[in-house]
Amino acid sequence: MALAGAAAYTFGAYVATEGFGIGVVKRGPARPMVALTFDDGPDPEYTPRVLEALGSAGVRATFFMVGRQIDAAAPVARAVAAAGHDLGNHTYGHRHLWTLSPAASIAEVDRGAAAIADATGVTPRYFRPPWGTFNWAAYARAAQIGEERVLWSVRPEGLIVAAAAPRMAAFVARKAHPGAIINLHDRGGHPSTPRETSLALPGMIAGLRARGFEIVPLRVLLSDRQSRSPAAQPPRA
Ligand SMILES: [Zn+2]
Repeated sequence: MALAGAAAYTFGAYVATEGFGIGVVKRGPARPMVALTFDDGPDPEYTPRVLEALGSAGVRATFFMVGRQIDAAAPVARAVAAAGHDLGNHTYGHRHLWTLSPAASIAEVDRGAAAIADATGVTPRYFRPPWGTFNWAAYARAAQIGEERVLWSVRPEGLIVAAAAPRMAAFVARKAHPGAIINLHDRGGHPSTPRETSLALPGMIAGLRARGFEIVPLRVLLSDRQSRSPAAQPPRA
């Protein structure tokens, strides 16, 4: 029974969220809008480069921050908030939730939220678990403290293969769809990823706009979900 309980706690939560999308947001409504989301920062070197690229293109995005990183780079976290981007909780220590007890999982969620609020004065509205992998304790806790559980629908990078800016930009522009939530990293991932991501942004943004997509933070992408038809107009080709 203990084994079955552990399997339900970890793999059951994974199948429900990743497999069936229960209680998680993987994409917004089918309007001609997409959201860029950045995980694992703030990073003292690469997050400012990402902010610069977004700022010069007039784009607001969403940053899923790791509490431990905020403790190491609080001014960078404040710069993200000050630039008008949305903030999301990516746990305190970026530990795989399948390795943690319910109590430790709840602490990871709560401490991540507290680190963001303490450093920036902003209460995060969204939660994304490390590697997109929930257990039931973290799944429930995020909702309890008012954080919407958000995964993604487009991801141009992996952990194994080195990232390359032109390929990332082309991949995102090609795979984007109405309501897409695009998963990027301003820290972490393959060692090349944060640098290539910052370099890819101008081309990625231009490619998305050329397809008619508006690039918006999650609060805009996920607003007004009930009143809009899911079959809204597709973007112009
Ligand atoms: Zn992560």
